[in-house]
Amino acid sequence: MVTAAETYPASLLVADGKIVEIGAVASPAGAQEIDAAGCYLIPGGIDVHTHLDTPDFNARTADDYATGTVAAACGGTTTIIDFSRQERGRSLGEAIDTWHEKARGKSAIDYGFHIIVIDMYEGIEHDLRRLPELGVTSFKLFMAYRGLSMVDDRALLTALDAARECDALVMVHAENGDAADYLQKRLLSEGKRAPKYHAQSRPPRVEAEATARAIALAELVGAPLYVVHLTCREALDELRRARLRNADVLAETCTQYLYLTAADLDRPGFEGAKYVFTPPARSVEDQEALWAALNRGELVTVSSDHAPWNYGGEKQLGRDNFTLIPNGAPGIEERMTMVHGGVSAGRFDLNRFVDITATGPAKIFGLYPQKGCLAVGADADIVVWDPQASGVITQERLHHAVDYTLYEGCEFRGAPRHVFLRGKQIVQNGRYIGEAGYGRYVKRRGPRAQRRLMAALGPGRS
Ligand code: MN
Ligand code: MN
Repeated sequence: MVTAAETYPASLLVADGKIVEIGAVASPAGAQEIDAAGCYLIPGGIDVHTHLDTPDFNARTADDYATGTVAAACGGTTTIIDFSRQERGRSLGEAIDTWHEKARGKSAIDYGFHIIVIDMYEGIEHDLRRLPELGVTSFKLFMAYRGLSMVDDRALLTALDAARECDALVMVHAENGDAADYLQKRLLSEGKRAPKYHAQSRPPRVEAEATARAIALAELVGAPLYVVHLTCREALDELRRARLRNADVLAETCTQYLYLTAADLDRPGFEGAKYVFTPPARSVEDQEALWAALNRGELVTVSSDHAPWNYGGEKQLGRDNFTLIPNGAPGIEERMTMVHGGVSAGRFDLNRFVDITATGPAKIFGLYPQKGCLAVGADADIVVWDPQASGVITQERLHHAVDYTLYEGCEFRGAPRHVFLRGKQIVQNGRYIGEAGYGRYVKRRGPRAQRRLMAALGPGRS
């Protein structure tokens, strides 16, 4: 058994979808037994940053709830929090309804929703404050993508203030959208059109400036803040400065920033387009800083930012102009194994691995202790993790619907053998055996309510 705090030998008993006993469990008559000798039992992974079935570029992200959640399950993830997105001129409630329709009857794993706020219509504060009743306790805003989803500081303040009032968490994509837009146009005017210029158009300062600004705005209204996909030392420095002031700010990174660099954008031909996601991958030194920050708890989780576009499809839109390459890459299935690479490399221990991939996200996004932990009373979302499983990541082995993986040819050690969701086995020896529609919507509590609950649980509950 591996929790965020301890590793110890034990058995556990599951009944009616819940963990009912942990320790030297005697197997009741008729119970199905799973021998996990040589493996670890860990809580099912929670990926808090995915974009399934999301329209853009006259298409949709390559994975819908059917394929995306099977890929997640095979990678050891039993819960996602997906981004439902408001459309311009439409209400927030419509976005949530639309996402329920996308997921219903299709999802292989449990799921919750964040909302992406695009359009600050008259009266939106009222609608924002009602979202927690629907179990949606996180509002995402973009400081980048000028003319598309970017909001101004006033809109961000409005959302932060509403979140503070109704006990929700604002999430920001922190990049200075005006600066990125300016640099893109300047590069194009110089005839610089290849994928590699994606990184030059959004250097670390673009991210660090917006990170600092978002934190300052959150402090002004006394609201908590969550920075998505933090990628570099300069943004980490802003996070640390804010923490010294006691600012209520948390940040994640994503798998790709731990393994890739801006040099991947300069692969031969148009291959670099596969590595166009935003913010761009940085340097080896930045990777080292992110791993260290994960070990120290300065970064609280690694999400996938799974936003898959086919290389043979939508990615080709930017063949002659890097600014037209759809931003995003797959990673929902690879995430757990790649983060476990940090254990193999001695960057952090197994308990930290569990905290980063499951317990931390459950606590931050209002699912703990129902999810994210192995404890009596918790949902029996359990992964039998084989630390010795090894091989090479290849597109053929993966279950996503997109036509490539960022990690083609990467050696891995450590992979899920069996996966259980609320007691039902959905992956057996790496093979998906679940059923579409078994996944359920999970309502989430807000950050204040979650903190109150954890205080009531007391120490010793990890
Ligand atoms: Mn983003
Ligand atoms: Mn994203």
